[in-house]
Amino acid sequence: MVCFYHPDKPAIGLCKRCQRGLCTDCAALVDDSLACKNRHETQVHALEQMTARNILQAQRVGSSYLRNAIFYGLVGLLFAGFGLMQLRFLELQAVFFLLIGLFLLYAAGANYFESRQYK
Ligand SMILES: [Zn+2]
Ligand SMILES: [Zn+2]
Repeated sequence: MVCFYHPDKPAIGLCKRCQRGLCTDCAALVDDSLACKNRHETQVHALEQMTARNILQAQRVGSSYLRNAIFYGLVGLLFAGFGLMQLRFLELQAVFFLLIGLFLLYAAGANYFESRQYK
């Protein structure tokens, strides 16, 4: 691979914006990425900032899933526990509560696994 602007020089990397080969003279380092010097530096900087923001957003989504998991888990335990306690007296109602509890626990588990994907 050679530099796009100097075909006689070997490229050290690609511009993140235009994917062209860059030699040491043409490459500008922008936030850990390479950019065409005086050409795509600002664009690459904007790109980098966008990526950083996406990562931040993903982390926020992950933590909200975790919060949901904790909430569903607690309410689910409450319902399931109540259902179990009532099982001897009110069978149908108890089963109903138990089912709600189990469903919430399932939702908690699903949210928990979802939150792990964003780590
Ligand atoms: Zn060059
Ligand atoms: Zn470029």
